[in-house]
Amino acid sequence: MTGPLLAIDTRGLTKTYGRAAAVDCVDLQVPAGGVYALLGTNGAGKTTTVRMLSTLVRPDAGTARVFGLDVVAHAGRVRSLIGVTGQYASVDEDLTATENLTIFARLVGASRRQSRGRADELLAEFGLGAAADRAVRHFSGGMRRRLDLAASMITRPRLLFLDEPTTGLDPRTRQQMWQTVRRMVADGSTVLLTTQYLEEADQLADRVAVMDHGRIVADGTADELKARIGDNCVRLDLRDPDLAPAAAAVCAVFAQEDVLLEGAERRVMVPMPDLESLPEMLLALRAAQIELVAVNVERPTLDEVFFALTGDAEPGVAA
Ligand code: ATP
Repeated sequence: MTGPLLAIDTRGLTKTYGRAAAVDCVDLQVPAGGVYALLGTNGAGKTTTVRMLSTLVRPDAGTARVFGLDVVAHAGRVRSLIGVTGQYASVDEDLTATENLTIFARLVGASRRQSRGRADELLAEFGLGAAADRAVRHFSGGMRRRLDLAASMITRPRLLFLDEPTTGLDPRTRQQMWQTVRRMVADGSTVLLTTQYLEEADQLADRVAVMDHGRIVADGTADELKARIGDNCVRLDLRDPDLAPAAAAVCAVFAQEDVLLEGAERRVMVPMPDLESLPEMLLALRAAQIELVAVNVERPTLDEVFFALTGDAEPGVAA
């Protein structure tokens, strides 16, 4: 019955504001270690979920446990295990980076010397050593975000909530943040990441839960989610469009579903869930003297999955 201890385990977790459920009966199982992404558009309920899990908001119904501890009954103990980084930096603009981190460390009970030591360590780790004595008001957005992340790491939390950590950052700074998150996970942290960026979930997360209107509409690895909406499709470009019907007939034997002709019949699209029979199909085409100018394998993207699952795509694709 009991499996390995989950970092997060929610059952029917619900929070209602006014008449509307911001989070609606959410079951979320997050294994310890790795990055778990909660993916959704504005207002999907991600922040409210994080706020309940980090003991900042009380659930209206359902239960939530962090490493087996109920977030309501054992709020204090849960807090000692987690770190939270929000969408907006919580650091003080007028203080230097070192001063900010030292104060945070003092607040959680470290001595003056320990605090300074931990601040120096974190600033070096987050690539902020050179800016240690500068007032935060002179920091770029990316530097601030990294400082905020460093602040949430003071207690070496086992579980870190990153609420849209890269919103508004430029692509280079975003890549740096991703590196930082990967390093934290390699060091043993579990990260629950909320994001509106499909690419971010694809890049960072071991598992992804798609949230829409307060509900989890799908979850799994990025590959599993992609597999839910579509398979690989092999695209063949023909030298001679007149041979398209013959090519389609050859390929139909190997295809999972109907073979399509596109691009003024110069292109044959062959749905093929696994690619094992691809070499055989190419040999069969050669035997039929059908010449190809290109062969490509197209995979569904996480974008397509997301739009399909949240109902923003053409009707009929939803989960
Ligand atoms: P975003 O990406 O914009 O941060 P989100 O997925 O984090 O969105 P939430 O912030 O959790 O979404 O909001 C979910 C819904 O709950 C929204 O409709 C929001 O307006 C509502 N909501 C959240 N907090 C409150 C509050 N304190 N009072 C009233 N409504 C709230």
